Amino acid sequence: LHAAYDPSNIFAKILRGEIPAVKVWEDDGVLAFMDVFPQSEGHVLVISKTSTARNLLEVEPETLATLTAAVQRTARAVVGALSPEGFSIMQFNGEAGGQTVFHLHVHIIPRWADRPMKG
Ligand code: 5GP
Repeated sequence: LHAAYDPSNIFAKILRGEIPAVKVWEDDGVLAFMDVFPQSEGHVLVISKTSTARNLLEVEPETLATLTAAVQRTARAVVGALSPEGFSIMQFNGEAGGQTVFHLHVHIIPRWADRPMKG
């Protein structure tokens, strides 16, 4: 949990425009984009553009507030677009916590009762 931020992580590359992403929302503070290996239709990731926090423990409260507001706004948009029956918000910290990309991010995963999550 305490290693240094690695600027070559995949989300940093997306933020620098070095690799493509399907963006669903972007402003000065945040970027929301489609997960390339979706757990369900409409799986979106939301990240801060201004913070190099690797996980929830490192992020400044003000940045977290901005990120959380973006998660809510994006979830509204996803629900509006896809009309899921529910959605799951997931956020993993550390390798043992299930994290694979070490730039803080929040998952928005639309859910349907008859469609189990993949992966
Ligand atoms: P976590 O670190 O919370 O386990 O999840 C990282 C997420 O990033 C995974 O759901 C994975 O599918 C997604 N991911 C990994 N590489 C890329 C990529 O290059 N582009 C996009 N859009 N998503 C990615």
